[in-house]
Order: sequence, then C-alpha cells, then structure tokens
Amino acid sequence: MKINNFNRWIWLLFIIFLILGLMNPAFGVMAGACMVSPVAMGFFKGRIWCGRYCPRGSFYDQVLARVGKKNRRIPVLLKRAWFRWAVFVSLMAFMAYNLFRAEKTLTGIGAVFYTMVVLTTFIGTILGYFFSPRSWCKICPMGTLAVVAQRGVKEPVTLDSGRCKSCRICTRSCPMEILVHSFKEDGKVLAPDCLKCGVCIQSCPVKALHFGTGRKNAA
Ligand code: SF4
Ligand code: SF4
Repeated sequence: MKINNFNRWIWLLFIIFLILGLMNPAFGVMAGACMVSPVAMGFFKGRIWCGRYCPRGSFYDQVLARVGKKNRRIPVLLKRAWFRWAVFVSLMAFMAYNLFRAEKTLTGIGAVFYTMVVLTTFIGTILGYFFSPRSWCKICPMGTLAVVAQRGVKEPVTLDSGRCKSCRICTRSCPMEILVHSFKEDGKVLAPDCLKCGVCIQSCPVKALHFGTGRKNAA
C-alpha cells in the first residue's frame, strides 16, 4: 500500500530500533517518543501519526501487507469498544507493574519499553498475518488515547457528495475498514479511527474525496 514517503520508508527505523534494543536494552526508551507522539498529534490532527509517521504502522503497511493472503479482514472482536478498552487497561497495567519492579536505570526502564514493543509487535504481526495488516491499530493503546485526545474528529477527509457515485471502492480500500461511502450525507468522513492515510482518496475513481476543504490529492 503506497501512502506517502514517510510511511513508505519509516519501517526501516523500526527494524533499526529492534536491533539496537537487542544490543542494548537502554535504547528501548526511544519507544517513549512513539507513545507520546500519537497522543500529542491526536489533540490537533486525530490519528495522523498512526497513518503517516508510526514506524510500526509503516511496517504493517509496507511489509506485512505484502505477505499472506489478499483481502484479509479485521476480526469483529477488535472493533468492539469494550475489547479495545480491556486491551488498553491490561497492557497499561502490565507496563506499570513492570516499570514498578524494574531497576531504576536507563537500561532497566529501557528494557521494559523494549519488551512492550516486542510483545505488542508480536501480537500485531500475528493478527496482521492472518487478518488485515492494520488489525492491531484497532486496539493499539496509543491509538486509543489518540482517539480520546482528538475529542470528535479532527481534520476529517472531505467527501464531495455531488461527485460520489456510491461505488464503495473507498470503503473496500480503507485499511481500518471505515465505511467511507456512508458519510456521503455528512460530506465529511466523521470516523474517529481514520488514520488520515489517504488510501481512500487515492482509490476514488471520481476524485470525490480529499483532505481539507480544497480538492487535493493525498500526500
Ligand atoms: S470511491 Fe468515491 S465515488 Fe465511490 S463511494 Fe467512495 S467517495 Fe463515492
Ligand atoms: S477513511 Fe481514508 S484516510 Fe481514513 S483510514 Fe480509511 S482510507 Fe485512510
């Protein structure tokens, strides 16, 4: 899936992080940036971090999506709000417990962050292999916090209802399985989990979708 240049290549940073963390767990503290950024950006731009800048999201789009079967779907359970919050509480409690027990050094703290990244990436990779590559993003705790932070839907994709032919190609292309076409009446894709990835914009045959209020193509 081609989205933008950041998304196309930033998965390499993720691989470098995994290697560095193996050599020295202190590098694990770098994961803190990937925990703060989606929430900080969420206040102003919704889940834009997840769709464009997240190294792990890029790994799912650019690597995981190329292996396994086509047309894999997100499991229904992962779309349930209660399940999403159960995952959030479980993982946050697990991390807090491990931070409490860890040696209070850069290596000790880094090892906890690194373990969390490896654990969640393992789960995300299994999910993404057998189901849709972005399945994990439905339950990612930082994505969940980004949804909460944006309070509504920040900078939604605009849908030109006059142009839209209701063909649903956009909906079929969305990695988060958002029913893009169903927002025709609203004129905006008011879905809090929209990653601002632009895939639906690229897929629309009549250019009815765009970012912002002007008619533009995806970044
Ligand atoms: S792909 Fe374009 S024309 Fe088709 S339903 Fe979506 S917005 Fe409408
Ligand atoms: S609605 Fe469009 S921009 Fe939002 S996640 Fe789906 S494909 Fe990406």
